[in-house]
Amino acid sequence: MFTRRDFSIIGVSTLALAACSSTDAETVKEANMSNTDWTNMSENEWQERLTEQEFYVLRKEGTERAFSSPLNDEKASGTFVCAGCDLPLFNSDTKFDSGTGWPSFFDTIEGAVETKRDFKLILPRTEYHCARCGGHQGHIFKDGPAPTGLRYCNNGVALDFKPA
Ligand SMILES: [Zn+2]
Repeated sequence: MFTRRDFSIIGVSTLALAACSSTDAETVKEANMSNTDWTNMSENEWQERLTEQEFYVLRKEGTERAFSSPLNDEKASGTFVCAGCDLPLFNSDTKFDSGTGWPSFFDTIEGAVETKRDFKLILPRTEYHCARCGGHQGHIFKDGPAPTGLRYCNNGVALDFKPA
């Protein structure tokens, strides 16, 4: 049985926790994310969760307009996470200015993305997507800088940036 005193202690510690986290809404969102079955989410569920533009890119393999994402110019240090499920995909120290108008990286966080061939432009390209939710991120090209020589050409709308 809880005594009245136990209850007040719980009340105080809950308040302290709430004060440490950024916002209640964000806490709820994060809790929901960890319990989500990402691979079995329906199209409707994705549509509710994402903005129209995020849905178009992540779930329909769309491509945003070049130079349309503020993340193209993001130079702060931090982590770029999947806009669909929050999985960390890129560290800022692998980002470079490719001049293409899309956020570009020469490497991913290990195991964060999976690839497949796509023939949308007739010539085969290597598509890559978030390893957790399957959300489309971009394409890999072989004209990137050392040490990988790869360029992960990413849609900015498919990413969220978390400053270090
Ligand atoms: Zn994801």
